[in-house]
Amino acid sequence: MCSVGDSFGVELEGGMEPRQYECNQCSKKFKGIGTNLRCPKCHSTDIKCIE
Ligand SMILES: [Zn+2]
Repeated sequence: MCSVGDSFGVELEGGMEPRQYECNQCSKKFKGIGTNLRCPKCHSTDIKCIE
């Protein structure tokens, strides 16, 4: 049996945890969930995950 009952280090399926992103256009840092994210400041989709 695997040790599945352990609650430490549990990862959510589907990548639903919020991640920190940074906009490549205006350097705005923000948190977002999902894949189709946009910068809340300049609405650019040219962002990168910095977490
Ligand atoms: Zn931006």
